[in-house]
Amino acid sequence: MSSAIPPRAVDLLIVGAGFGGLCMLHRARQRGLSALVLESAASVGGTWYHNRYPGARVDIQSMEYSFSFSEELQQEWRWTERYAAQPELLRYANHVADRFGLRDGIRLNARVTGAAFDEAANRWCVETESDGAWSARFLVMASGPLSAPNVPAFKGLESFAGPVYHTAQWPHEPVDFTGLRVGVVGTGSSGVQAIPLIAQQARELTVFQRTAAYAVPAHNGPLDAAFEARIKADYAGFRERNRRMPAGFGSELPPNPMSALEATPDEREAAFEARWRIGGFSFLGTYRDIMLDERANALAAEFVRGKIRQIVRDPETARLLSPSQTIGCKRLCVDTGYYAAYNRPNVHLVDVSRHPIDAITPAGLTTNGRSYEFDALVLATGFDAMTGTLLRLDLRGRKGLRIQDKWRAGPLNYLGLMIEGFPNLFNVAGPGSTSAFTNVIVSIEHHVDWIADCIAYLDTHGRATIEATAPAEAAWVAHVTDVASRTVYLTCNSWYLGANIPGKPRMFMPLLGFPPYADQCAEVARHGYEGFVLA
Ligand SMILES: Cc1cc2nc3c(=O)[nH]c(=O)nc-3n(C[C@H](O)[C@H](O)[C@H](O)COP(=O)(O)OP(=O)(O)OC[C@H]3O[C@@H](n4cnc5c(N)ncnc54)[C@H](O)[C@@H]3O)c2cc1C
Repeated sequence: MSSAIPPRAVDLLIVGAGFGGLCMLHRARQRGLSALVLESAASVGGTWYHNRYPGARVDIQSMEYSFSFSEELQQEWRWTERYAAQPELLRYANHVADRFGLRDGIRLNARVTGAAFDEAANRWCVETESDGAWSARFLVMASGPLSAPNVPAFKGLESFAGPVYHTAQWPHEPVDFTGLRVGVVGTGSSGVQAIPLIAQQARELTVFQRTAAYAVPAHNGPLDAAFEARIKADYAGFRERNRRMPAGFGSELPPNPMSALEATPDEREAAFEARWRIGGFSFLGTYRDIMLDERANALAAEFVRGKIRQIVRDPETARLLSPSQTIGCKRLCVDTGYYAAYNRPNVHLVDVSRHPIDAITPAGLTTNGRSYEFDALVLATGFDAMTGTLLRLDLRGRKGLRIQDKWRAGPLNYLGLMIEGFPNLFNVAGPGSTSAFTNVIVSIEHHVDWIADCIAYLDTHGRATIEATAPAEAAWVAHVTDVASRTVYLTCNSWYLGANIPGKPRMFMPLLGFPPYADQCAEVARHGYEGFVLA
């Protein structure tokens, strides 16, 4: 690594100014550390800065998807909708930056290109694209679990004559599809949110679907004032109850402790219907074993397929939209009018599951011997999840160990927080943690507190470095897979497994169950950081 400018030094460098980076900066300053955020974008907000596609909104209720670290903040902020939309979430991120005076600790337009651990000095040297070099004792990667967009290597993509939009790199000025023929590739969460709105504008919309999505209604609407008042009367208690939930949210409507297999068909129908009417992720909690037992799961899946057949008038379209995989195995989508969009005469569905897209052409694309023409192309093709941002860096640990070599067979880590060979480097919301299966803000706050406590421990015990050990790492990765193997999560090809990226090693990356995870992280710390070497 080379830099003309000598590195500027701080205690803590943080990569990313999404919710993770903002929270880490605030906590570091509270602990008296000098900290700096390096952010490639032109403003704060992370996910909610980049994902500006029509319909982008949170799928965990706004009253839950927000910071708990400040009682004043959570009392004064007012969400307008049950599920906040992207502009409101971005306003919230900016409010947090202003409210806690964080802006002077954030370098914007500062893309980190690489970082190397200097073993003699026990410091990280961090290079940016255009903001010189920085050096720090600690490096916190808050670069996002879903922030490295996946642009599939379609043959001819660059030849397309019209504009190409990736949902995660959406322009800042409004995109108007009025009168245009639009092609959308991808029907994961982003596609499911965007398709109904693009359908309202476009002259013709053709959706290219590789895997049909399960979507449950959001029933979004204005935030109920009585609900808001009740939560705010004891926000701390509400947060605590949520932290004891498996996914860090949903304490208002916990999973039903019954097995789906014990209910009669009529009871099941009524139970599924009741949760469908409430909407959101709680549908998967209709029975306790939906994500644990394939037979229970099949009952929930069939209920949703029944809904698709009721909503979508054309039987062949309904058949193509009906997923066959286990429900919830890929992230469940929470929608507003997704299936109904296919009743519009201007919306067409093309199944590319058996005949993939052959090529993008100047006029559209070809698949299965047919050509489709459109004026604009939307790629709702998701992310190189959990590992993408780190693997795109020139990141080197001890003895020049490259992260690409370390993670050749998958993202080895301990507690989802640290990597052997990369001392003093912490990962926020990364692989091996529960982040992807939780309200991510709960996971972020947990990681930030753990990291801040860990640094304080090192300082009070006169230690310069902390590093995961290889045996702890191997055991942890085995544990993550073992937990998943007791569920239905290994029965499909999901981004949790890295299956959406050609050539990515198959390794189940997120851990299930926030409360036991948080307890285990606390236990490790209580025992002087078992599984780590402190030097
Ligand atoms: C469309 C969408 C909807 C989502 N909805 C939900 C939801 O409903 N509930 C939920 O819990 N989670 C949701 N998520 C997950 C979401 O990513 C997290 O909730 C949360 O925003 C993650 O915050 P973060 O700070 O960890 O990462 P991010 O918000 O992704 O921020 C990472 C930041 O790091 C920056 N960065 C990355 N690499 C570099 C580099 N090399 N140099 C400098 N800067 C860099 C990026 O520009 C970005 O600003 C959603 C994600 C997406 C994409």
